[in-house]
Amino acid sequence: MKEEKILMMAMESDNNKVIMDATVDVIKSCIYDDFDVDELAMFDIETIFLELRSKSVGEKIDLKLKCDDEKCDVLNNVAINFDDIERPVVNDDENKIMLTDTVGCVMKYPSMKSMNELNDVKDNDADQAMNMVLACIDAIFDEDNVYPAENESKKSLQSFVDSLSTVQFMKLSDFFRDMPGLKHDIEYTCDCGKVQTQTLRGLSSFFT
Ligand SMILES: [Zn+2]
Repeated sequence: MKEEKILMMAMESDNNKVIMDATVDVIKSCIYDDFDVDELAMFDIETIFLELRSKSVGEKIDLKLKCDDEKCDVLNNVAINFDDIERPVVNDDENKIMLTDTVGCVMKYPSMKSMNELNDVKDNDADQAMNMVLACIDAIFDEDNVYPAENESKKSLQSFVDSLSTVQFMKLSDFFRDMPGLKHDIEYTCDCGKVQTQTLRGLSSFFT
């Protein structure tokens, strides 16, 4: 199966973006209606990837993990079960963020496409945070109305965000910090005797 080869090669690259791009290509080649894969959020793609992988390669994922002792260079073979990996949980009520008593934003998680676009621009961190927030405001509301972001120009959204206080801006950017994602807590004892508790995050950490 061609798709499987693409995925296996991507996994060997050990690079999150390469794995994500390959996953998107495979999903596109498996889906025939006009469903827009690029609009899926990162964690949707991560989940689909794991499902695809478990169907093609099997339930078990073998990892080689290093313990946190700098002097220890043992690579431990640790197997995890695909079914034990927590799936990202999305709480819809976290999308609504109040900025004042009456004004707030409805946020949406960044799509794969907008993440790629943001990563391609070599902005400083402040600009990146700003662009991320802009890309993910779904609507602004006050006590009377809801204003969908798609009806607003980028400029007017920008001036809305510029007018926010630091505290208000942080509320919006916290939305991304707490974004659902693939993670898995793992505990094992290294051959050197040290007990390790580690958290794997992102697709590439599952394919070391
Ligand atoms: Zn060790």
